[in-house]
Amino acid sequence: MNFIDMHCDTIYKLMDDPRFSLYKNNFSIDIEKMKRANYKAQFFAMFVDAEETPNRLNRALDMANRFHLEMDKSKEYIKLVTNYDEFKSNESQGKISAFLTIEEGGVLEGDISNLKKFYDLGVRLMTLTWNFKNEIGYPAYDRANNHKGLTSFGIEVIDQMNNLGIIIDVSHLSDGGFYDVVKYSKHPFVASHSNARAVQNHQRNLTDEMIRILSNKGGVTGINFCTEFLAEDRISKVEDMVNHIKHIKNIGGVDVIALGTDFDGIHSKVEIEDASQMGKLVYALEKEKFSAGEIEKICYKNVERVIRDTLK
Ligand SMILES: [Zn+2]
Repeated sequence: MNFIDMHCDTIYKLMDDPRFSLYKNNFSIDIEKMKRANYKAQFFAMFVDAEETPNRLNRALDMANRFHLEMDKSKEYIKLVTNYDEFKSNESQGKISAFLTIEEGGVLEGDISNLKKFYDLGVRLMTLTWNFKNEIGYPAYDRANNHKGLTSFGIEVIDQMNNLGIIIDVSHLSDGGFYDVVKYSKHPFVASHSNARAVQNHQRNLTDEMIRILSNKGGVTGINFCTEFLAEDRISKVEDMVNHIKHIKNIGGVDVIALGTDFDGIHSKVEIEDASQMGKLVYALEKEKFSAGEIEKICYKNVERVIRDTLK
C-alpha cells in the first residue's frame, strides 16, 4: 500500500535536536521509515507554540529554513512539491513528496502579506489556529468561545488562501470558525488531523454534521493517532482508529477519510509506533472487510483528489 499523511510534527522535533536528520532519526518519521512503508507523500507542519514564542513569524521562518536544508540533504529521496503535477513527477521518479504546512495561523502576525511570503517558501496548507486565540479566530480548546467564528482578518486570510491555492485546515479551530470556513471558502478544505466527536467526545474532533458538510464540500479529515482523540485509553489502539473510520464512513462516506497521524507530536504509546508500521492499519481495515479500493482511498487517494482540486 502507499500512504499520504497530512500531519506530523517532525520539523518541530528536528529543531530541538541538530544531531538528527530527516533521513534518519529516532522519531516516528524519517525517510528510511517512510520508504519502508512506501509513502507517496508526507505533509510537514511548522508548529509554533504561540505562548512560548515571542516572535512567531521568525520562528516559522527558521523552521522553513531547517525544512529546506533537510530537503537539500536528502534530495535523491524526497522533494518539496507545491502542486499536483510536481507530486506526480516525484512519483514517477520514485521520490517521496514533501508538503510544507503551517500549524498556527498566528505566524502571520496579523499581516496578510506574510501569507504570500510563506507561499513563496512552498507552504501549501495552513492550520488556521492551534490551541490559542489568534488574529484569525478561536481554538476548539477555548470552550467559552467555541461558538465564535473567524475575525474579519480571518475572513481575509480565507479569501487569500483560496486565491493563492493554499489548503485551509480547520483542525484545532472553534466550531464557529468551522462554519465560517464553510461559508467563506470557495474551495474544498480539510481537517488535517481530527477524528469523530460521536466516537470520542472531544472538542478537537468533528461532529457528524461537520463530517457531512466536509464531505459535501469535497474535503477530507485525517485520522489522528493521538490517544485523547481516539478513546478513553492510555495507548492508541488500531482498533479505535478503525472505529473512527467506520463511523466517519457511515456518516460522510469513504471519500472523506484520510490520514493525519500527528506522529512526532504524540506523547503516549501508539500501537503503530512509526511510519514504517502503517501496514498494521491496512491489515486491520482488511479484517473489517474494507475493500482494496476503499483502503486505497483512505491511505492516499482521497488526499490526492484534494491536492488536485485545491493547489494550482
Ligand atoms: Zn495539532
